[in-house]
This record gives sequence, structure tokens and C-alpha cells, in this order.
Amino acid sequence: MSEKNLHPRTRAVHHGIRRSQYGEMAEALFMTQGFSYDSAEQAEARFIKSGPDEFIYARYGNPTSRMFEDRIASLEGAEDAFATASGMAAVNGALMCFLKPGDHIVSAKALFGSCLYVLEVLARFGVEVSYVDGTDLAQWQAAIRPDTKAVFFETMSNPTLEIVDIEAVAKLAHAVGALVVVDNVFTTPVYSRAIEQGADVVVYSATKHIDGSGRCLGGVICGTRQFVREVAEPYLKHTGGAISPFNAWLMLGGLNTLDLRVRAQTEGALALATALEGDNRLSRVIYPGLASHPQYDLAMRQMDGAGGTMVAVDLGSKDAAFRAMNRMEIFQISNNLGDAKSIVTHPATTTHQRLSDEVRAGLGITPGLLRLSIGIEHADDLIADFRQAMA
Ligand SMILES: *Cc1c(COP(=O)(O)O)cnc(C)c1O
Repeated sequence: MSEKNLHPRTRAVHHGIRRSQYGEMAEALFMTQGFSYDSAEQAEARFIKSGPDEFIYARYGNPTSRMFEDRIASLEGAEDAFATASGMAAVNGALMCFLKPGDHIVSAKALFGSCLYVLEVLARFGVEVSYVDGTDLAQWQAAIRPDTKAVFFETMSNPTLEIVDIEAVAKLAHAVGALVVVDNVFTTPVYSRAIEQGADVVVYSATKHIDGSGRCLGGVICGTRQFVREVAEPYLKHTGGAISPFNAWLMLGGLNTLDLRVRAQTEGALALATALEGDNRLSRVIYPGLASHPQYDLAMRQMDGAGGTMVAVDLGSKDAAFRAMNRMEIFQISNNLGDAKSIVTHPATTTHQRLSDEVRAGLGITPGLLRLSIGIEHADDLIADFRQAMA
């Protein structure tokens, strides 16, 4: 059977395994920073060019990290991947590795706070950044110039769950030879077809759905072999962004169950959003899997017919939002997402606190907005918890 014909859920369990001489069933944890060589000549040869099963130093690569990279690349339909210490190391690495002063990039403005910070750093080093409303193709078209080097966006934005049309933006970007770099965290590898749809580089925070149990940080950059090994890897291996083999080992376990968890979380999210829609205590229920979402058709087309694991609701005021959060029993107040446990976050005072009131308002991050990351609990329990918290 050819690997390529296997379903992602099968590849998520079997792909990328490098068995040692012991034939272990579970992926081995190679908790080593270095590797010894048989001879001085072998060390010399490996520094000139290492083969696929030859390692030098864990900052450059490690067998356990490589198993994780191979498996996620297979799921994403990418030629290769480089695993990083965190999602932000991946975002930073994916952009820093090829941009230089004087370059121009276009980015959606609805971004995770730390992604906005990375763009500020790029600007500090002379990269010109134009911001657009990611959902407005006319704005992308107007901002992309013949000399634009890259476009960057979250395919589903945090926390207001806007969907950016990967195919349409990629067409505009590719017309001028710009690289399409997407942060696909909210879409998850389960529903991602980003490469097929035109993305050149797909970045994940593995901390979220891939670990799925909120244990450790990690990230990954997926792309062509040329981009990953010749552009991203040199930058990352020399600047220290590599993942710990231990975290890569936890992420491999996460990938085993990723498909099952994310589909269960999506069912829960749809059930909760459906139950809450129309409740007059909520001024907005945002979920890409509800027909009322302004980009429902695009979401269904782009995300394989699923709305994802995140829901956002507006209780009208900070007071009402805080009161409901403090009464929740199953939903935990935290700021991770993609966890097996359901999480409630108040973006305006936490993840997006750094922004000015005007910028927050412009992004739709109102004082009453709550971001819900749906876990794998039974949907009926989540609905009951939310209802009693609002009562
Ligand atoms: C969490 C997150 C990141 C950063 O990932 P870390 O693993 O926390 O560094 C980047 N982008 C998005 C959309 C995220 O949700």
C-alpha cells in the first residue's frame, strides 16, 4: 500500500516512525543533544552533508524531532517540516528566515497578539508591513505590490473567527511572486488543505491541538523541502529555535489522537453554538460552522466542511462576561486553546490587552466577548455549564 493513499488518520499513527534496533512499538525518545561519530573523518563528512538518518546536534535535528516533522509534513501534504520550540518560534522563524530590510509584506491585521509583535520587530529592522482587513479581497489587491515579498495571515483569526480565503489571496500574491505564509492554528491540521489551496508555508503552534493536553510548547513550519531545509533550517538551527526532543515526543503522542479529538471537539463546538444561538442574553454567537456566520460558505469549502473547535460569544459587557466566567464549573479560565479541557478566555483583558481600545474595537474585540475553546467533554455538559453560568 502506498503511503500517499492512506487516510490522514492512518498516517497520523504510522507515518514517520524511525525504529531503533529494539523494534519498539512506541516512538523512541532520543533525549540526547549530541551524537558520537565512529571517526574524525565521519564527523568531517557529516558536517559537510548529513544523510537523512545522520544527526549532529539537537539544535540542528534529532531523531525524535525528525519523526514529528515527518509525520506533520505528511498530514499537511507538505514536502518537509521543521519543528520549533513554540508556535511563536515558528512564526518568527518562518518570516525572519527570508526577509531583509527594504522588503515589503502584507499582513491581515486580525492576528494573535504575539504575531503582531513579530511584525513590529520586522518593521524595526526595515521591513515595510502593510495591514489589511483579511476578509476583504479588494484590500489585499490594493496592498500587494510588484515588489511584495510575502503575505501573512491567520486562516481563521483569533478571537473573532474570521476566515481568510487562502485560494484567492494566494492567487493575488503569486501573481507578483510573493510567498504565502499562513498561521493555521485555529483550522488545525485535521481540516487544513492550505498547501493545496495555495499556501507556500504553513505554520502551527503545536502547543494547541497537536499536543491537545496542554502539557508543553512546540511549533512547526511546513513547506517545500527547499524552503524548509535551505531557508528556514539554517536560520533556526543557528538562532536556537529548535524543539526539545522531549516535547517532540509528546507531540508525536498528540498526533496519534489528533483526528479523533479535533472531530469530537468540533461536534461539541457546533452543538454549543447551535444551543446558544438566539439566546437573547448574547449579542453575538460567532461560529464558522453556523449558517449565520458571514463566511459560512467559505469556511465549509476551505475547512473540509467543518467549523472548527472555537466559538466566540458576546455577553454585552465586561461585567456580564466576568460574572459568567467566574460561575463556570467545567470551562476553565485560561488562555490556551485546543486542549482536551474546555477553556474560556476574555481576550480584551488578557490575550489582546496590549492593544489600544481603538485597535481592539476595530478588530471586534468587544468588552463582553468571550473566546471558548471546546474540549472533548460531552456537549450536553458544556451547554448546561454555560447556561447555568449565564443564569
Ligand atoms: C498560540 C498561538 C500562537 C503561538 O504559539 P505558542 O506555541 O504559544 O508560541 C501563534 N498563532 C496563533 C494563532 C496561536 O493561537
